[in-house]
Amino acid sequence: MTVPHLPTYDDVAAAADRLTGHAHRTPVLRSRLLDAALDARIFLKAENLQRVGAFKFRGAFNTLARLASEQRRAGVVAYSSGNHAQAVALAGHLLDVPATIVMPHDAPASKVAATQGYGATVVRYDRYTEDREEIGRALAERDGLTLVPPYDHADVIAGQGTAVRELLEDVGELDALFVPLGGGGLLSGSLLAARELSPGCRIYGVEPAAGDDARRSLAEGRIVHIDTPRTIADGAQTQHLGELTYQILRREAPTILTATDEELVMTMRTLVTYLKVVVEPTGALGLAAATRLAEELRGERVGVVLSGGNVDPARFGALLAGT
Ligand SMILES: *Cc1c(COP(=O)(O)O)cnc(C)c1O
Repeated sequence: MTVPHLPTYDDVAAAADRLTGHAHRTPVLRSRLLDAALDARIFLKAENLQRVGAFKFRGAFNTLARLASEQRRAGVVAYSSGNHAQAVALAGHLLDVPATIVMPHDAPASKVAATQGYGATVVRYDRYTEDREEIGRALAERDGLTLVPPYDHADVIAGQGTAVRELLEDVGELDALFVPLGGGGLLSGSLLAARELSPGCRIYGVEPAAGDDARRSLAEGRIVHIDTPRTIADGAQTQHLGELTYQILRREAPTILTATDEELVMTMRTLVTYLKVVVEPTGALGLAAATRLAEELRGERVGVVLSGGNVDPARFGALLAGT
């Protein structure tokens, strides 16, 4: 078996150089009301304001930028109905790399249109009868495309780590950091950045309470697979960690917490009320867990990644209205 290359902090720093002028350096938001409510100093890294509305643009752009010229010419393929799809589509558009995105027939029309709007080719599949990984692999083989996975890839992880690198550059060292967790790409990259730039910082990965496979994986010492969890946090409905993300999480041993759908909605309400920002349910995982842990965070400097803001306005309204 070949030993996979685990990315390092240097890879995160190199990714940051590549992203300069292409990704937004998103703001760090503060709120006196939020600080008062939690009795702590809260620094919110607003990746809901990133290009395509989520941090995933960072990993996708870094990965495509590192392809060899013949790989770029042939193009890339990704399977996703969410933020990764739009991230690969936009990165492909900017870098002149043809992108094919495999999406389910029942993907929201707005997401299909946005992906096509970036010039990507959308291939539809039936999520109940067909396997998207198989379709992706078949396309990759037939047309010589390079598969861009959503989290289990060294260049994707390094790209995602640039968000927390910017946060720590902007605000200095932190006592605690809260990061949303699905397949673990964002958390892995955040760990690489934070261990280097804020070594004393306690790092928390936050996954949906309905699918705590990462917590169980670290507790049991193996990658635990679960059924697709039923949660409004659709960006973290992953069934298992990746090989690389599992190894980084095991080595760095972050604390894994969970948040319920109810806590996510309360947090989305807090964010729109205090800061006037819209985050999608998955993007609220970090602040939801920090709120629950407020007692332990009293007086501390606390970083939170707001990972994305892609939620349909009607759905946002319905969630906040409690329907
Ligand atoms: C993909 C995604 C996550 C989870 O990221 P992983 O790298 O899979 O852990 C969290 N929040 C948002 C908004 C996402 O799109």
